[in-house]
Amino acid sequence: MFAFVLPDPRCRRPIVSPQTPMNRRGALKALSVGGAGLAAFMVPAGILRSDAVDAAERVGPQDPTSDALQATSRGLPRLKITDVRAIPMTVGRNHLTVVKVFTDEPGLYGVGCGTHSERQALVVQTIEQYMKPAVVGRYADDINDIWQMAWMAPYWRASVDASNAMSAIDGALWDILGKRAGVPVYELLGGKLRPAVPMFTNAMGRSPDEIEDNVRAAMEEGYHFVRIRHSGSMPPANGWTEVDEEGAPVFPMRGREVTYVNDLVDTFAHLRDTVGWDVELSHDVHGALSPSSALTLAKACEPFRLQFLEDLFAPEDAHWYEHARTQSSTPIAYGELIVNQNEWVPLAANRWIDYIRCHLSAIGGLTPARKIAACCEFFNVRTSWHGPANVSPIGHAVNMHLDLATSNFGIAEGDPFSDELREIFPGAPERRDGMTFPNDQPGLGIDIDEAVAANYPPEGGRDRGMRCYDGSPCHP
Ligand code: MG
Repeated sequence: MFAFVLPDPRCRRPIVSPQTPMNRRGALKALSVGGAGLAAFMVPAGILRSDAVDAAERVGPQDPTSDALQATSRGLPRLKITDVRAIPMTVGRNHLTVVKVFTDEPGLYGVGCGTHSERQALVVQTIEQYMKPAVVGRYADDINDIWQMAWMAPYWRASVDASNAMSAIDGALWDILGKRAGVPVYELLGGKLRPAVPMFTNAMGRSPDEIEDNVRAAMEEGYHFVRIRHSGSMPPANGWTEVDEEGAPVFPMRGREVTYVNDLVDTFAHLRDTVGWDVELSHDVHGALSPSSALTLAKACEPFRLQFLEDLFAPEDAHWYEHARTQSSTPIAYGELIVNQNEWVPLAANRWIDYIRCHLSAIGGLTPARKIAACCEFFNVRTSWHGPANVSPIGHAVNMHLDLATSNFGIAEGDPFSDELREIFPGAPERRDGMTFPNDQPGLGIDIDEAVAANYPPEGGRDRGMRCYDGSPCHP
């Protein structure tokens, strides 16, 4: 507790809350009364950096930090956040949540994505009830400070609902900063390393011939990276087409793992024989196999030189990635269910994975994602941020800006946006020829038309609960 007293003899008094100035005698008295006194001595939760800057201006030059704090106001005039508006919507099966963050500069706002399609209503509540009161009145360029405070605010870190709410605010603040500076967000991240971002798409089918047709169709559209799914023996994408007598989705694959592995291996062999090698192929296991079957698959796929097998093991079985690395050379992608840094740091630092696949809003947005990318660079782990339809076009724009500026970028995920999404989100990145192209507008370069979005009222989210072939629950 004595760390609260600054040891520098040039300082006349301990650093305490700017709103509760206190001399040494007062401080000791406060400490002497135990917990209650200590609480009074600590900086109240509402005291943030912007308040500290104001306090430094009052304290004067005897505070050794005051010059540095005041220097932060010498750049762009500081703008304060005046309002936050959550904008949820349901477009097709996707429950999208975005925000607008407004500033005290008339007409200047930012947009961000916090889409947690399964629990949309919780994210909206977190934004409105917790994030909005915490950030209104703060300076819009305090992105790092706001993110760190938001991370600690619930005390229990890494709630996926809280992280999505943080991501929405975080993206909007980067958007505002770019707009104020007059540059795209990728410039703020260090500048473009590539003119556009290559993407992979999906090719499905119930037989190797049908999948071959769809791979060829994707290649004709310009894709060089195709993720395949054999829907004859595997659960359909996300397993929702079969339901039990009560209407609950059935996950029919358990107990049929041998068929799953054999059909997939036969399909890869067929594609290499027919389509050839001028296409990168991958597959998402979605953690659906038992660990032993997953290892068998990884080893059997080696001759086909895949780009990656994704989510070979479920998060509950993440330690099996070490075994996959030692037993197979097939590259591994992992991470769309990550919310906590402890879930990916060991996998990257031990080089057990080749691609990291975080869902950016589930980890808290652009601010943590750029750190993950930078960390992974030193372990030769490439980025492939999760980017299916349950990421809003604003979230895809965030992914794109980071991809443009990331040296260890691997591959993006995405398909051209539908007409309805392009109408809701003017400025959505252009997607053609298997690539995403930035529009080079300041900020994220994308907006939301709230009048159009109002035609897609939110439905609150959806469940992913699934059952095995024998009726027992299993993870999606
Ligand atoms: Mg996946």
